[in-house]
Amino acid sequence: MDIVVSGIRSTGNLHLGNYFGAVKNFIKMQQENNCYFFIADLHSLTTHPTPQDLHQSVKQVLVEYLACGIDPENSTVYIQSDVPEISQLYLFLNMNAYLGELERVTSFKDKVRTQPNNVNAGLLTYPVLMAADIIIHKALKVPVGKDQEQHLEMTRNFAQRFNHLYQTEYFPLPTSFNFGENLVKVPGLDGAGKMSKSNGEQTAIFLRDDADSIRKKMKKAVTDAGPTDINQVKPEPVQNLFDLLKLVGTEDMIQHFENAYNNCSIRYGDFKMAIADQMIQFVEPIRQRILDIDNDHDYLAKVAKMGAEKARESASKTIKEVNEIIGIRKFY
Ligand code: ATP
Ligand code: MG
Repeated sequence: MDIVVSGIRSTGNLHLGNYFGAVKNFIKMQQENNCYFFIADLHSLTTHPTPQDLHQSVKQVLVEYLACGIDPENSTVYIQSDVPEISQLYLFLNMNAYLGELERVTSFKDKVRTQPNNVNAGLLTYPVLMAADIIIHKALKVPVGKDQEQHLEMTRNFAQRFNHLYQTEYFPLPTSFNFGENLVKVPGLDGAGKMSKSNGEQTAIFLRDDADSIRKKMKKAVTDAGPTDINQVKPEPVQNLFDLLKLVGTEDMIQHFENAYNNCSIRYGDFKMAIADQMIQFVEPIRQRILDIDNDHDYLAKVAKMGAEKARESASKTIKEVNEIIGIRKFY
């Protein structure tokens, strides 16, 4: 069985981007692989959540993982901070991560632009912590969305650099994984960019959203004035809506609206409500399961404890071996 690792930051509720970019693959992979799925609470500290918010967000992701169908008996589901070995490996990897390469990372440059008052060192070394998350279990496959492609490349660099420095083949080089050939990017509703937990409530469809809020958000989704020429190229906001329909709609619906766009008869109001209806059908059963699990504190505690134990077993083996390789040896 191949080892699989992936995680989601505890920065809010899961949305369709998290589902189609990541969680959908988690569920498909969990039978035939040795899977580790975690909640990345340490990664979410870069934006300084309050203690109350942090704990609540961790719980939300845990509940939503389970509601989506991750089976904690089959996969190892754990909270990143429950496994201190990850932070230890992060420290080791930081010794071979260089300022220049970290400053060139696209997600870092974006954060420098959008939050210039909080360019902390944790943000800079985010890809190093992510590498530690993955190679602590010596993973081969990492199911993630398109936005993580560059981080995965850095993970391979850090793993390879460690191997090279200590003349070993200790860490395998992991690759990003998706069942289709390409990694997925689910667009937001604001006409540009990807759907995100932290880009504002109105631009994402969450798995917790009820029918009413999905319709309201879709009504406000950005479009344009409408096509004026037969078969004209779609501008980004309109293409984004077609991309969303492809995730949740039927072949017939997609064809119907493609034709309507191409012969300039499309009415965006109808188009958006049709997408909303499909989204509601998709989200509703997951939403119901979220509501069921939400208050089952005993079950959540049991899952988190079991996951922490299994994850630490694998992580502490790696850390022991890494200490040995590096030359951190006991005198006593
Ligand atoms: P944040 O805004 O806090 O960064 P996020 O929505 O980007 O939250 P992450 O926790 O950063 O979510 O990412 C979790 C997983 O979901 C990753 O595998 C990431 O690639 C995937 N993912 C996030 N957004 C999208 C998206 N819009 N399309 C496809 N995959 C996505
Ligand atoms: Mg993100």
